[in-house]
Amino acid sequence: MNRHARIDSIPFIDVVAQRRRLGSRIDEAVRNVMDHCQFINGPEVGELERALSEFCGAKHSIGVASGTDALVLVLMAKRIGPGDAVICPSFTYAASPEAVALAGATPVFCEVDENTFNIDPGGIERAVAAAKRAGLKPKALMTVDLFGLPADYEAIDPVAEALGLYVIDDAAQAFGADARGRKVGTLAPLTTTSFFPAKPLGCYGDGGAVFTDDDELADLIRSLRNHGQGTDRYDNVRVGMTGRLDTIQAAVLIEKLKIFPEEIVARERIARRYNAALADVVRVPHLSNEHTCVWAQYTIRVSGGRRDALADALKADGIPTAQYYPVPSHRQGAYRDRPVAEGGLAVTERLAGEVISLPMHAYLDEPSQDRIIGAVREALRH
Ligand SMILES: *Cc1c(COP(=O)(O)O)cnc(C)c1O
Repeated sequence: MNRHARIDSIPFIDVVAQRRRLGSRIDEAVRNVMDHCQFINGPEVGELERALSEFCGAKHSIGVASGTDALVLVLMAKRIGPGDAVICPSFTYAASPEAVALAGATPVFCEVDENTFNIDPGGIERAVAAAKRAGLKPKALMTVDLFGLPADYEAIDPVAEALGLYVIDDAAQAFGADARGRKVGTLAPLTTTSFFPAKPLGCYGDGGAVFTDDDELADLIRSLRNHGQGTDRYDNVRVGMTGRLDTIQAAVLIEKLKIFPEEIVARERIARRYNAALADVVRVPHLSNEHTCVWAQYTIRVSGGRRDALADALKADGIPTAQYYPVPSHRQGAYRDRPVAEGGLAVTERLAGEVISLPMHAYLDEPSQDRIIGAVREALRH
């Protein structure tokens, strides 16, 4: 008999457990929307925006249709387009460079730091040089707070300022985290996030938000998400898009935001437990005393080509893993011809060959954590 046949699989991200916990609260919130039928721009959207601002401290929170739309909208608001370069890491999800390309600008890829997986402040200038050599105007720096950890803004900001780059924080994976007491949403002049179901704060479909303290940019983005609306619905003063957050998704998020702080604590506890139990067998992720991480992914590094063997061994034990990201953006068909920082991206290439993420969600109980830890240790013993 197959010894694995009886083993239950552990979910990689458990949206079902959270749904069970929230139960009738979500049902009621959705039913209220069904009753009032204001599916677009209903009262829940404004209510959520106020709750998000209270949570993160940004003056303006603007609900939008997805994390990708959030990025496109902020690039449109900053009038970044053809002929402009936006420096962004290659080691990120496809949506970061995709938004730049959708806005008509060119993503220029920069290097990340080996310990944090986030932008290496020392590599930004080499990307600006590559952008200029390609005849582009370097306009902005898109930081990505990868896997839930804020980038190093204390080091990045002076570099960006010296190079004349406007900082846009793609915090699709990091909403809820903070850096030296300041929450994501306030770490850059414009921040975006995603409420895709698998993100730390997810809705039940697609959704996202933009955060800023700038009144003018906030007005502009509110107009752009609604077909460039002026004073009323039939007044179109600029080219915009259908970029609004659905009322039903806002209603779901209002309920989910209430338990989010507890979930962040649970995620942090699990990550620290994983780190303590695995640090002697693999390279575990960076823990910081100055930042909190919301652990969108818990990502370890396995060198020497042992990654696939580890993934196979865990899979046989009913433990799913994922590789974020096995092919960095600058190697993807869609972005292969975009400029790369001078000197290349050696750290990015190495990380792409070594990273593997373990199950991580707020409802992962200790027996499941121990099963995962035991299986990783066992697989790497040989
Ligand atoms: C998920 C993600 C996005 C895009 O979010 P969507 O809501 O799926 O459009 C953008 N950037 C990063 C880094 C992401 O992880």
